[in-house]
Amino acid sequence: MSEAVRVRIAPSPTGPFHIGTARTALFNLLFARRHGGTYIVRVEDTDTSRSTKEFEADILAGLGWLGLAADEGVVAEGERGDRGPYRQSERSGRYTDVANELRAKGLAYPCFCTPGDLEAERKAREAAKLPPRYSGRCAAIPAETSAARIAAGEPAALRFRIKPGVVVIDDLVRGRVEIDSEALGGDLVILRADGTPLYHFTVVVDDADMGITHVIRGEDHLSNTPKHILLFEALGVPLPKFAHLPLILNPDRTKMSKRKSQTALADYRAEGFLVEALVNFLALLGWSTGSEDEVLSMDELQERFNLEHVQKAGAVFDRTRLEWLNGQWIRRLSNEELLTRLRPFYEMAAANGTLQRPATDAEIVALIPLIRDRIPLLTSAVTLTDFLFATALEHDRAALVPKRWDAATTLQALAAARPLIAEAIGEGDAALLDAEDPLEAQLRSLAEASGWKSGDLFMALRVAVTGRSATPPLFDSMRLLGRARVLKNLDAAVALVSGS
Ligand code: GLU
Repeated sequence: MSEAVRVRIAPSPTGPFHIGTARTALFNLLFARRHGGTYIVRVEDTDTSRSTKEFEADILAGLGWLGLAADEGVVAEGERGDRGPYRQSERSGRYTDVANELRAKGLAYPCFCTPGDLEAERKAREAAKLPPRYSGRCAAIPAETSAARIAAGEPAALRFRIKPGVVVIDDLVRGRVEIDSEALGGDLVILRADGTPLYHFTVVVDDADMGITHVIRGEDHLSNTPKHILLFEALGVPLPKFAHLPLILNPDRTKMSKRKSQTALADYRAEGFLVEALVNFLALLGWSTGSEDEVLSMDELQERFNLEHVQKAGAVFDRTRLEWLNGQWIRRLSNEELLTRLRPFYEMAAANGTLQRPATDAEIVALIPLIRDRIPLLTSAVTLTDFLFATALEHDRAALVPKRWDAATTLQALAAARPLIAEAIGEGDAALLDAEDPLEAQLRSLAEASGWKSGDLFMALRVAVTGRSATPPLFDSMRLLGRARVLKNLDAAVALVSGS
């Protein structure tokens, strides 16, 4: 690429950091890295009624966590770079100046239509089954007349003249797209009557001022791009290249939206998705390696990413794949690293009462080899092992009796297994973990001699001893609990089953 690549994302802080924004940010960063360019974060906070500092902070925190903090522009600590300010709320003087230039060149004109006038126009077109479009009735007012009306205090918006003709987008993903400017809704308001600027205008002024070379954004913006192209031309600046990324779809192929789907990045983080897995997954939402490789680190993605392999068709958000990738990445972490990732989840569970007491680092480390291959999410670790931190177990009576058994068989089996367990399990047996457990063979023989399926016996014991039907391996679980607690839980289970 001959010129230095400069790309940007321009999130509006009107809601929590959206997973789609994260995908756009990632593709921009990957493209910048691949071409030795600069990745810019700009905050589009002109919609003051909906923008908040809390949402901005959430977006910046999410970007930082994903490794997508800006090279230039707005970062959590402030702003970096010399082409700012990078928040639109701080650029209003600039927008007014550029708007005045367009007006002076006759490329924009004051519009005196009142909201009532515009509403009447809209209704008339609706009645005639025509799409909404401004009639252009202020377009021909002579400049002196407009000036006089404004001087007399009449409110006026500023409209940009939409040139007739076909606008061509040479999209790097979609190829050549042609849109007749007739379909753009007529001359475009760029400043409201109160002087505040509108999105289509600010985005173009900013992209021009910041020397953006490639605009990589969601396909939902494709229909805006012709307006932007006409504005770039009016400003007399070179056009950036455009690449529109496929929409992110729900499995039923409807558009992923805040209302219907989990879209806040923070919710995925809270569920215990690893940053590595999310980055990996987001990269594959609309891009593919062109090979079978699926598990890719940020470094690998930076080496391999290209726009040629971005698909046109919508990208389905497949949660099963995300969980699978998360499992893959969990398995790749060292024990030490996994402890670091798990610790906050155990801490939070202890703080909110999900765990009856806090887990020590040593206890978590002991669990890691037993759970690593069994947890799709970091939160699953807590769910799978909470019984170990329970001071008093609460059994679900119905779950205590295996499906093929009745209460009497369950009681008989628990009573027969108890002495074997009391004999085999000690306190603090963690050293035996992961080894072939002699107790297992004894219990299998017991099952065989009694005509039970060993699976049923193990299930009855699992639920009795841990209170749960899904746990790390049974014998490891018992050794982690230690003799006293195993027997106490077993006796409580017996009491519950026999008392009914
Ligand atoms: N603020 C716009 C959005 O959040 C960004 C538009 C753009 O990238 O040009 O969708």
